[in-house]
Amino acid sequence: MSETPHHEVIVIGGGQAGLAAGYFLRRAGVDFAILDERRQGGGAWQRMWPSLRLFSPAQHNSLPGWPMPPQAGAEFPTVDHAVEYLRDYERRYELPVRRPVRVDQVRRTDGEFTVTTDVGTWTAGGVISATGTWRAPYVPAYPGMTDFTGPQWHTASYPGPEPFRGQRVLVVGGGNSAAQILAELSTVADTTWVTRRPPRFMPDEVDGRVLFDVATRRLSGTANGVSELGDIVMVDSVRDARERGVLHALPMFDGLTPRGAAWADGTEREFDSVVWCTGFRPALRQLRPLRLSRQQGRIPTEGTRNPEEPRLHLVGYGDWTGAASATLIGVGRTARTAVAELTAELDRKRANVA
Ligand code: FAD
Repeated sequence: MSETPHHEVIVIGGGQAGLAAGYFLRRAGVDFAILDERRQGGGAWQRMWPSLRLFSPAQHNSLPGWPMPPQAGAEFPTVDHAVEYLRDYERRYELPVRRPVRVDQVRRTDGEFTVTTDVGTWTAGGVISATGTWRAPYVPAYPGMTDFTGPQWHTASYPGPEPFRGQRVLVVGGGNSAAQILAELSTVADTTWVTRRPPRFMPDEVDGRVLFDVATRRLSGTANGVSELGDIVMVDSVRDARERGVLHALPMFDGLTPRGAAWADGTEREFDSVVWCTGFRPALRQLRPLRLSRQQGRIPTEGTRNPEEPRLHLVGYGDWTGAASATLIGVGRTARTAVAELTAELDRKRANVA
C-alpha cells in the first residue's frame, strides 16, 4: 500500500459484533472499514464443532435489520446455518469487510488511531474493537499438566467426538461448552466430568429466548441477572445425557498425573485425553500499545466506551460491554449504542477543530 488509507471509523473483527456495528455505521452514513483476519465471513462460528446447535430458534438469533431465516428441518439452527446467515448479512448490507487482514497494533498518533496490520497501515478517527474471544482460549494452571502424556484439547480445538471413540476422556469445566461436549462425547467414550463447583442446570424450559428476555428486563431493573437461572442451558443433547445418567460432575482434581488425574482424597483415575472447556478471554492483544488500564484481563468500559479513550468502543465479548452482547440477538443493541456514542464524539471533535 503506498498511501495510508484513512476512515472515520475502523472496526476490528468481522464476526457478528463487527457486522452489527457495520450495519449501524452504514445507516449513520459514516465512512468506515471492517478488518477481519479470517479468509471468509462467519467469525467464530466457523471454528465451532459441527454438531453444535444454537440455543434458540432462528428468529431469536437475528442481527439488526434482517432476521435469521429458519433452517429447514431444524428448529435450533446448526453452526453452518449461522455461518451462512452472517455471510449473507455481510453481502446484503454490502459491508466493507477487508480480509484477510490481521490487526497487530492500535496506537494513538496526533489525535487519531494508527492501525497496523499484516498487510499495511490504516488511520482512523475512532475504533470499534469486535475481536471476540475465540482467539484467546483460557486454560487454568494445575500441577502436572505438562506431565500428562495424552492429548489435551480445548473447546476451541475440539474436533467433534470421532477421535475420542472408545477412550476414557476427562472433561473439565462447568459451563455450556463442557455440558454439550460431555453430552456428545459420552455417546462414544467413557467420560468423567469435573467442575470447580457443582454444575447449575437451568430449568428445562429455559432457552436463548428466555435468557434474552431476562437480560432485557434486567436492563430495565425488573429482573435479576441471567446467572440467577443457572449456568447450563438444557439443550436436547444435554437432556439426553441426563436421561442416560452421565451428567454427574466430580469435584475438581488436584492435578494431572502422567496417565490421568489425582484428587486430594488420594483417588487416582486414568484417562486417555483431557478436554478443557474452561472458557475464553477477550482477544485484546492488539490494543496493548494504547496502554489502557486493565481489570482482570479486560479493558474497562462504560457501556461500550473506554473511559480513558472515548473514541474506542468494545462490542461483543460478554455482558460487561452490554447485556447479552456476546449473542446474535443481543449484540445489535450494544452496537447501536456504540455507534451513536462514537459518531457523537467524532462530531464533537470535528466541531472543536473547526
Ligand atoms: P467472533 O465471532 O469471534 O468474531 C471476531 C472476528 O474478529 C473473527 O472473525 C476473528 O477472526 C476476528 N479477529 C480477532 N482478532 C482479530 C485481529 N487482531 N485482527 C483482525 N481480525 C481479528 N451465541 C448465540 O447468540 N447463540 C448461541 O446459541 C451460542 N452458542 C454458543 C455455544 C458455544 C459453545 C460458544 C463457545 C459460544 C456460543 N455463542 C452463542 C456465543 C457466540 O458464538 C460468540 O459470542 C460470538 O461468536 C461472538 O461474536 P463476535 O463477533 O464478538 O466474535
